[in-house]
Amino acid sequence: MSEMFTFQAETQQLLDILIHSLYTEREIFLRELLSNASDALNRMQFTQLTESDVLDPEAELKITITSDEEAGTMTISDTGIGMTREEVIENLGTIARSGAKNFIQALKDAPNSEAAQNIIGQFGVGFYSVFMAADTVQVVTRSYKPDAEAVMWEADGGTAYSIEPAHKETRGTDIIIKLKDDAKEFASPWKIKDIIRRHSDYIAFPIYVGDDEDPTNKQTAIWRKSPSEVTDEEYDAFYKQFTLDFGEPLHRIHMRADVPMQFYALLFIPSTAQQNMFSPRKEPGLALYSRKILIDEYNNDLLPEYLQFVQGVVDSEDLPLNVSRESVKADRIIARLKGTLTKRIMSDLKKMAANEPDDYLSIYEEFGRYLKQGVVAAPQDKDDLMELLLFQSTHDDDVDEYISLQGYVDRMVEGQNEIYYVVADDFSTARRSPHLEPFRQRGIEVLYFSDPVDAMLPMGLTDYKGHSFRAVDEADIDLTDVGTPKEDENQPEPLESSSTETLIDRVKSVLGSRVSDVRMSKTLVGSPARLISQENGGTRHMFRINRLLDR
Ligand code: ADP
Ligand code: MG
Repeated sequence: MSEMFTFQAETQQLLDILIHSLYTEREIFLRELLSNASDALNRMQFTQLTESDVLDPEAELKITITSDEEAGTMTISDTGIGMTREEVIENLGTIARSGAKNFIQALKDAPNSEAAQNIIGQFGVGFYSVFMAADTVQVVTRSYKPDAEAVMWEADGGTAYSIEPAHKETRGTDIIIKLKDDAKEFASPWKIKDIIRRHSDYIAFPIYVGDDEDPTNKQTAIWRKSPSEVTDEEYDAFYKQFTLDFGEPLHRIHMRADVPMQFYALLFIPSTAQQNMFSPRKEPGLALYSRKILIDEYNNDLLPEYLQFVQGVVDSEDLPLNVSRESVKADRIIARLKGTLTKRIMSDLKKMAANEPDDYLSIYEEFGRYLKQGVVAAPQDKDDLMELLLFQSTHDDDVDEYISLQGYVDRMVEGQNEIYYVVADDFSTARRSPHLEPFRQRGIEVLYFSDPVDAMLPMGLTDYKGHSFRAVDEADIDLTDVGTPKEDENQPEPLESSSTETLIDRVKSVLGSRVSDVRMSKTLVGSPARLISQENGGTRHMFRINRLLDR
């Protein structure tokens, strides 16, 4: 007995676009189906670690593709986790991917079909991409749960799909495709193998084509290869598939270690801090494998929070597989991995900052905020993090010119022992601050803390190599012995002390309780007045931070 269902509205729109676009790279549908099969196998493998009551416990975890060129059909089978009837309706009737609506909108807004094709090519659209090549699709699936029954889902890319009970003895999923007339080429085993090698070679489970005894894919996860065997193109292709980032990563780290721990890691600094809404990575965290088995999609314990922008894969040979990850042994290994990975990333960043300042600046502009948060949140790593900070300053007064703390210290003026900064909402406000006058006048450089997150920096920055940090509006700053004042012929004569007192009384009576005191300034040059603060250090910037949090 077959039952009809209507696709969710967004799914219908997506199908409509996929079917009607003259898509040139439609072969990616195979990549999408293989990636789903691989996910299903991964989940099966993981399930078997903890559950013993599964269907076909002995079945080989594999993917098989058969085809009939004459008839224009192909079938992609896996022995993965399968789906129950409810799961089929949930997974193949709606679009679970976040951002799907925006994706559809982007396609609709694309003025011509060429642009639309680029959008599809970049995003990959999951299961439904099969309708770029298929007239009809049947999904016959049986869940690993022993009492679940097999079902068949069928659709032709129209507004509805049907579900009926099916006969399938074994666990897993068969995707049976009747190819469109102009897509029959995809039934050729040669073509299928070619696509697998180009798009899906690294899939960890064997993919058999036709009656072949040997799998078509090499199955070596890219991170397990020796770095000398992997080309830049292969790294980039992996990165793009992993993150769906449009750009190239800003930095890549490929690590393999045998002692004291055996592990592999392939890490990337993304091209941008903007989360791509179509990214398959839905949360921060690294993908954690234990002996090739994916045990955690998003692990947040492998890196400190201030490096959470790093993407990639860690594969450990030492992590226990079948115990809960909360176990003491696992915790210890994760902590050691974290130490090793953090050290390596930080050392790479420092090297870049020193040797490739332009490359480092691109990273800093995207992810500097994470590092700054680390200065406050991870005091134990503060010394390392401080080496990575960059600021604009009064020295160049240029948004594009940055100086490190070491650079600042190196060019301190005669008699200067402290690091001066001004906190402001943005660059142009910072440079107009009246507090800067005496500093400019004496040739003393002041750092601009003008990024919104900079307001919290004073909570973490106390001193750098023995030089304490001082905000320019602190009340007790004395510049008398610092730098040399520029001669200024237009300097007016100072007021008589009796007139000074009259003026102070007048200002006090006007401002009343809004200020705690009014005094004559020893530092102001061109501006008539400035507001200063009694307290020093981090707490006095709390009001800015609170304002930030309110936004
Ligand atoms: P995604 O893979 O990003 O979740 P897809 O559109 O590719 O999105 O697939 C939708 C869902 O359908 C998957 O999340 C999965 O639950 C289910 N699915 C697809 N193919 C299979 C398969 N071969 N075996 C089991 N479940 C599958
Ligand atoms: Mg998928």
